[in-house]
Amino acid sequence: MADCVFCKIIAGEIPSRQVYADEQVYAFEDIQPQAPTHVLVVPRQHVTGLSEVDSPEAVGAVMAAVARIAREAGLKHYRAVINNGEQAGQSVFHLHVHLLGGRPMGWPPG
Ligand code: AMP
Ligand code: ZN
Repeated sequence: MADCVFCKIIAGEIPSRQVYADEQVYAFEDIQPQAPTHVLVVPRQHVTGLSEVDSPEAVGAVMAAVARIAREAGLKHYRAVINNGEQAGQSVFHLHVHLLGGRPMGWPPG
């Protein structure tokens, strides 16, 4: 999608530090990490956010990739977060899961 920063990252038009890739999913390091591990896991197909999801395929592939990336990084304690909508903290409107780990996490989140 034009003007979508994550579509541009997937297309290689904006540089990123790739962590994982397969046919449906691309994962890369967050540019402003909030934890020692902070990876963004996104479907290659543009979806604005979780509220736009109407079938399990893309989200299933993304969540399976989150689990795989965490396993391969040796992370046992981590958080997988989706911010949906501006008031929930979403700033990039291409569905993504934040994989955060490597430090203790508080609850509830801010
Ligand atoms: P959210 O606020 O949930 O929409 O998350 C968007 C995330 O994308 C933030 O954590 C940003 O730091 C991250 N981000 C924005 N632009 C880039 C980029 N070019 N490369 C890597 N991460 C980015
Ligand atoms: Zn996009």
